Amino acid sequence: MSRVYNFSAGPAVLPEEVLKEAAEEMLDYNGTGMSVMEMSHRSAAFKEIIDTAEKDLRDLMNIPDNYKVLFLQGGASQQFAMIPMNLMKNKVADYIVTGQWAKKAYQEAQKYGKVNKIASSEDKTFSYIPDVSDLPVSPDADYVYICENNTIYGTKYRQLPNTKGKTLVADVSSCFLSEPVDVTKYGIIYGGVQKNIGPAGMVIVIIREDLITEDVLPGTPTMLTYKTHADAGSLYNTPNAYCIYMCGKVFKWLKSMGGLEEMKRRNEEKAKILYDFLDESKLFHGTVVPEDRSLMNVPFVTGDKEMDAKFVKEATAAGLVNLKGHRTVGGMRASIYNAMPKAGVEALVAFMKKFEEENA
Ligand SMILES: *Cc1c(COP(=O)(O)O)cnc(C)c1O
Repeated sequence: MSRVYNFSAGPAVLPEEVLKEAAEEMLDYNGTGMSVMEMSHRSAAFKEIIDTAEKDLRDLMNIPDNYKVLFLQGGASQQFAMIPMNLMKNKVADYIVTGQWAKKAYQEAQKYGKVNKIASSEDKTFSYIPDVSDLPVSPDADYVYICENNTIYGTKYRQLPNTKGKTLVADVSSCFLSEPVDVTKYGIIYGGVQKNIGPAGMVIVIIREDLITEDVLPGTPTMLTYKTHADAGSLYNTPNAYCIYMCGKVFKWLKSMGGLEEMKRRNEEKAKILYDFLDESKLFHGTVVPEDRSLMNVPFVTGDKEMDAKFVKEATAAGLVNLKGHRTVGGMRASIYNAMPKAGVEALVAFMKKFEEENA
């Protein structure tokens, strides 16, 4: 068996310890004589899995009691519709567009009401986060929406927007559990888990209780109403049980590593190795303004498409895989999520140095 360093933006690298544990439990989970994939979601064994997963996530993120944690299907993209359907009481919402995912959410919301783009960084290919300290927030906005870490462009908010008292909704798919957060600053925090937590096919929604109501837009399906899932403890229908089990293992792993303060320290350390090299390299450069750089997704280019392609090809042969950038940015992107070890980033930088020397 040989494992590569996988820099994929998602689905992405998972902690090796977690994968090994899951493999050991594949045929017989905890004396049940069956795999978690084969068991009833109403069984006692599964109830313990989902309850423990929720409790560990609450511990990790310090989630207050007046927030619900929902394990839902449909990925992060389903939330692009679910959020307006459930929150648009006045049918007005403000969006800050800092990349493709924010833009998709902004476009989807337009199906349900009046949607204002109150800031954008599209003028410079989303390579920065706009000033969000004093935005023209609509007086009747039901919420202000952001994508906190922009997976494709490699930017991250350093400061949350001043929403002038309006509910903040944030897509944190690609920075989920990468550092501590103050949950009380948000009405909804949500993310697809396949970036920084677990396997694909699930979204975790952390939602303040007062936002969970029956007063949703007419025609909202039962399955797309937060109240349905909140009332049923995420077991209204069959959930993505195996994914919940895997995420639960990752939560335990994060706790054993020292929690989110420690993950932040590690992520800063890893990102610095790569950004420091990009800042001194004559061949490679980062595409994002330094103050808005993401700790999770690091796009970089040589400025020459053929050279980029040569780099990706040779890196792949050296066991450094999935470094090709998103088609809208080109070049390269290294996603260095929680589960990417420091040794993986060091191996990447060593390879980049060697490549630079050989191609000077
Ligand atoms: C990947 C990603 C999405 C889409 O996630 P799906 O689970 O595939 O719907 C949305 N937002 C961000 C920030 C992402 O990185």
